[in-house]
Amino acid sequence: MSPQKKKYGVMGGTFNPIHLGHLVVAEEIRHKLNLDKVIFVPTGNPPHKDNKELTDAKDRYLMTLLATVTNPNFKVSSIEVEREGISYTIDTIKAFRSKYKDTEFYFITGADALLELHTWKNVSELLNLCKFVTATRPGFELSKIETEIKNLEKRYNRNIYNISVSALQISSTDIRQRIKDERSVKYLLPDPVKYYIDKNCLYR
Ligand code: NAP
Repeated sequence: MSPQKKKYGVMGGTFNPIHLGHLVVAEEIRHKLNLDKVIFVPTGNPPHKDNKELTDAKDRYLMTLLATVTNPNFKVSSIEVEREGISYTIDTIKAFRSKYKDTEFYFITGADALLELHTWKNVSELLNLCKFVTATRPGFELSKIETEIKNLEKRYNRNIYNISVSALQISSTDIRQRIKDERSVKYLLPDPVKYYIDKNCLYR
């Protein structure tokens, strides 16, 4: 009998900065989909992005490491941070598929990304190589995302999961604004991430 395939989540995002909402999403999806591990993949130089507000990839990577270090089921990959030029999800998934054999991948990201998915590089191939999971924050227009999921499922003949997570009320944009305004961000992100931000004077 062949051994059962492992199931890994791949949590993609800029994580600018990583916050408790991201961690709750990853843990909740890991539990719901019975994933063995979740690999966080902070973007390097993301496609489709105006980079003005984007903190250095090395800082975002280190904050992601600090935030996840206490969870044995979470890993962080520097693959996109180290990649030169524009980074595409399909290249990351292909690299993971050759590194981790006999593993099924679930790419997890925010709902906004799903609405743009049809514009991504080799999307049809990507949906063959991994399953796609979106996390919706409260207040996001659910009917919009449901319609888009139906369209994508029909077009690419693949199932797409959507999970609504209330902890995603926390957002990186709001955290950056709070820091700029010198308002508290306590309880929105892990303390070591807050110390890293303070020590390196980020988002001021
Ligand atoms: P982003 O700017 O960080 O995120 C967009 C929105 O989704 C924000 O509201 C964000 O909330 C939320 N979000 C981001 N990552 C999340 C996660 N893992 N779980 C839950 N919510 C999340 O990122 P992006 O530029 O849209 O990119 C998202 C992912 O898609 C990245 O891995 C990127 O490489 C990939 N992507 C690939 C292509 C391609 O291959 N052609 C094109 C576009 C994007 P917060 O602000 O609170 O984080």
